[in-house]
Amino acid sequence: MLKTAITLSDENYYSNEADWQYMSVSQYKDFSNCEAAALAKLKQTWEPEGLQKAFLVGNYVHSYFESKEAHAKFMEENKDRLFSSRRPHGLLKDFQIAEQMIERLKCEPAFAQLYQGEKEVILTGELFGIEWKGKIDCLNVDEGYFIDIKTTKDIYEKKYDPYWGPGSNFIERYGYLVQMGVYANLLHQKYGEAFVPIIAAVSKQTPSAAALITLDQMKIESDMSMLEENIDRIYKVKMGQAEPSHCGTCEYCRSHRRITGFINMNDL
Ligand SMILES: [Zn+2]
Repeated sequence: MLKTAITLSDENYYSNEADWQYMSVSQYKDFSNCEAAALAKLKQTWEPEGLQKAFLVGNYVHSYFESKEAHAKFMEENKDRLFSSRRPHGLLKDFQIAEQMIERLKCEPAFAQLYQGEKEVILTGELFGIEWKGKIDCLNVDEGYFIDIKTTKDIYEKKYDPYWGPGSNFIERYGYLVQMGVYANLLHQKYGEAFVPIIAAVSKQTPSAAALITLDQMKIESDMSMLEENIDRIYKVKMGQAEPSHCGTCEYCRSHRRITGFINMNDL
């Protein structure tokens, strides 16, 4: 096992160093999607197109509900990326939607009442033999629950998923079950108690839809046992002890994978 040296803070939580020392749910999801792409991202030899923007939109909304100071700091640090250079003071379209999503959640008393507790809580712990890190949007230790805000295209959209099948929702498709499962596990390690996971969802549609969502424990456990099955292999690939496989179809593979022979049409 890799010895962990750095103590995580708001400053280094998303750093490359922290990503090497700790496994995270987003890293696990990256490796599950495509090992080659995940490793290239970790080695900083490749960055997915559009990742930065989605990350910024999420942080725009999250920082608002964290605190006034956090949001002001976020706006100041990212002003070059948030505002149009052609139209002075014009917020770019994606961030206008972020504003709209904030307004949508703000006008919900149920959300305001529930979103109480410690914000952006960093957790670490051991799970399936390796060190993990996690960051919880809102943790209410007294009441025993935690909330994650999810900005999503459409809360009610149902689509096919290779694991969950046809008609799966965004929580299943985007690996939010395993995320909440890992966080609940890390919280249990720290507090010795069971915490209830809640997703506060707001859609990127105009107008935005909003919902407070409880999760299906059986489905969390199903995703957690899949994690348990896959994590050894992923950790080996991460540590250079196994060759990464190419999914063959992702953004990274499309541009980096050399043609080494013919593919039969029936394999497309
Ligand atoms: Zn790939």
